[in-house]
Amino acid sequence: MEISGPRGTHDILPDESSLWYYIETNLRQMAELYGYSEVRLPIFEHTELFERGVGDSTDIVQKEMYTFEDRGKRSLTLRPEGTASCARAFIEHKVYNQAQPTKWYYIGPMFRYDRPQAGRYRQFHQFGVEAFGSQDPNVDAEVIAILVRIVEKLGIKNAELHLNTVGCPDCRPLYRERLLQYLTPFAGELCNDCQQRLNKNPLRVLDCKTTHCREVVKDHPTLHSYLCERCGQHFEQVKSMLSSYKVDFVLDSQLVRGLDYYTRTAFELLIPDLGAQAAVGGGGRYDGLIEECGGPPTPGIGFAMGLERLLLAARKQASQAWKISPVMEVFVAVADKEYDRDACLLLDRIRQAGIKADKDYLDRSLKAQMKYAGKNEARLVVVIGEDEIKNDCYILRDMKAKEQQDVPSSQIIDRIKSILVTS
Ligand code: AMP
Repeated sequence: MEISGPRGTHDILPDESSLWYYIETNLRQMAELYGYSEVRLPIFEHTELFERGVGDSTDIVQKEMYTFEDRGKRSLTLRPEGTASCARAFIEHKVYNQAQPTKWYYIGPMFRYDRPQAGRYRQFHQFGVEAFGSQDPNVDAEVIAILVRIVEKLGIKNAELHLNTVGCPDCRPLYRERLLQYLTPFAGELCNDCQQRLNKNPLRVLDCKTTHCREVVKDHPTLHSYLCERCGQHFEQVKSMLSSYKVDFVLDSQLVRGLDYYTRTAFELLIPDLGAQAAVGGGGRYDGLIEECGGPPTPGIGFAMGLERLLLAARKQASQAWKISPVMEVFVAVADKEYDRDACLLLDRIRQAGIKADKDYLDRSLKAQMKYAGKNEARLVVVIGEDEIKNDCYILRDMKAKEQQDVPSSQIIDRIKSILVTS
């Protein structure tokens, strides 16, 4: 019986992996441009880290984690997101003792037991940045600008940045009470999840995606009139900086992160072309997170973006001529099987010179080898035959220019290089 991949996973075959590589290279370059360095953290962590660092009232922790007991009876979880691990590593390695801010980025697979559909998987990939150690609103604007500019750089149009503030533990409780007053009369009409959220976390009712809950919260009181002075000033500075950067945004009072350690700025980038799963990235400030995970009080802000959705949007809009480098620059063909050993040796010389090269391994005829080279988009073909061996030279065919020349063996590498450089 054939075994298929688990539900919600997907394979990235070589046809596609070059596109992934291209996007990942762009993400890394962009992060480094803004002063962020890469961290590589474990794929699994102690379950408790996510209960604390993501929040045990969140959907992720309540319904979506891949949690298992290892042979030593520890409860471990495949990481559903990257921020909690970054917070853990920041604390564990006492990075807070170094000069701040700490600016990290990560890229890699995440795991959530979600209902799979277009743009939603159980194993998916995120790129994220985290800036620990500064409360400066200009860091908020910088982090948001990275998210927006990545999407722009990949040639994706119509992205919509939604922006909000969720205040801080000083000003939020008052608003929470006011919101609860507003929502309580509608309690019976809310979805089951929101009825639970009402007690634990009423702000998260605002974020519910069900049509009826959205209808109920339509005229909800907004946090803006409850913000303390410092939160108000912070938000003004973030907005002003974004405007100066010419980063457009839409104010969205329903964009919330309900947990106590989330503070102030919250944002999400939507690409409406993506349909139901339009959110390509989102993040916010979490000035209480490091403390929640057992570290010293340290502010922080970050975002995560989904690479599958980024790719989907890039493909849908097809506005970008992807610069994917060919797998094969040179193909070494033989007129007869007896020159195979010479072909292997020449191939080795070409590869040692740093040029991508390959040959036939299926005893194809010369004609079939030329066809195979064409199919693989080889720029050059070197042909080895009886005359070539006798004269210690090769036929070098330029597949693009459709021209060929005889080249002495001693000059072949230089000639190949000079053609590749000019192409
Ligand atoms: P979140 O950590 O939930 O804010 O997610 C950040 C981004 O990761 C989202 O905007 C999506 O682009 C992506 N994402 C989250 N969950 C999934 C999933 N199950 N499948 C694919 N992408 C996802």
